[in-house]
Amino acid sequence: MGARGRRVASAGLFGGRDIALDLGTANTIVYVRGEGIVLNEPSVVATNVIDGTVLAVGAEARRMIGRTPGHIQATRPLKDGVIADFEVCEKMLRYFIQQVHSRRWARPRMVICVTAGVTGVERRPTYVIEEPIAAAIGAGLDIAAPSGTMIVDIGGGTTEVAVLSLGGVVVSQSSRIGGDELDEAVVQFMKKEHGLTIGSRSAEEIKMALGSAVPLVDEVRAEVRGRDLVSGLPRRLVISSSEVREAIVEPVASIVDTVKSTLDRTPPELAADIMENGIVLAGGGALLVGLRELVEAEAGMPVRLAPDPHLAVVLGAGRALEEFDLYGELILSDGFE
Ligand code: ADP
Ligand code: MG
Repeated sequence: MGARGRRVASAGLFGGRDIALDLGTANTIVYVRGEGIVLNEPSVVATNVIDGTVLAVGAEARRMIGRTPGHIQATRPLKDGVIADFEVCEKMLRYFIQQVHSRRWARPRMVICVTAGVTGVERRPTYVIEEPIAAAIGAGLDIAAPSGTMIVDIGGGTTEVAVLSLGGVVVSQSSRIGGDELDEAVVQFMKKEHGLTIGSRSAEEIKMALGSAVPLVDEVRAEVRGRDLVSGLPRRLVISSSEVREAIVEPVASIVDTVKSTLDRTPPELAADIMENGIVLAGGGALLVGLRELVEAEAGMPVRLAPDPHLAVVLGAGRALEEFDLYGELILSDGFE
């Protein structure tokens, strides 16, 4: 019997599809027990502001950002790591969960990773796992060991730094500077230095294509399209990676400072462990070229990237779901059970 046949049988056995969900400010990722990641979409919802109906969710809604007529609004229900719009957030979650559901009668377990706990979203057993713990499991760290490890999760809206030992968070710090802030810095730079208005999506593309935290051996250039601030007409220009680095230097320094100040607050025994074990970077923001090298130089500690940093949280939550007996005590129930 092939994998397909087995999957049907196990769905029956467990009474549904247990899911782990990383509800991020930038992206929502869903993991199904026994299957892996089945959905990875931007946390964006497009609504008709006149009657409140949802027009699109995820990638489709994201394409509408900056392109909507007056009565349509494309928004991200999470800002700075917390839920800014509960109603829209709930609609978004419902939509994503429906996408992966197979049976209406099923009552699957659901593990959610969020900074600020999400409750009341769905009437089913809901568990919450602390994000840094999920990220550490996803990065393959031995979180139960009596030894300190530091995990840095750089998302869209926040940077979260946590020191873990014996399966718990010992020290943690969160800052509202994440990838979005870098995009905004690129928007401001283009305006100030080149008199060009660009949207946040273009800014993010520029950041990914040209951005870096340290000088590159081979600096690269790319064309940017925007609107001239004075004439209001479309204009193109070529910018270099060194310019983009200059544009994002402040928010990048702020991310590094959050790591350094957390280290300052870390008890000496654990700091010595981190010196040995290294700092692990996770979250999509960790993919910025040269960030690992910069943090390593500034913190004076070995730093490495989690494998697939942008997936570390959901993979860790998924692992906790797969091995519920082993990781169950790290998971908090929200009381719906
Ligand atoms: P969240 O958990 O808040 O949803 P993610 O962990 O998905 O966030 O990370 C999203 C952030 O990572 C965005 O700001 C995005 O621009 C950034 N990002 C993704 N890939 C890259 C890259 N290659 N270089 C720089 N930043 C990146
Ligand atoms: Mg995240």
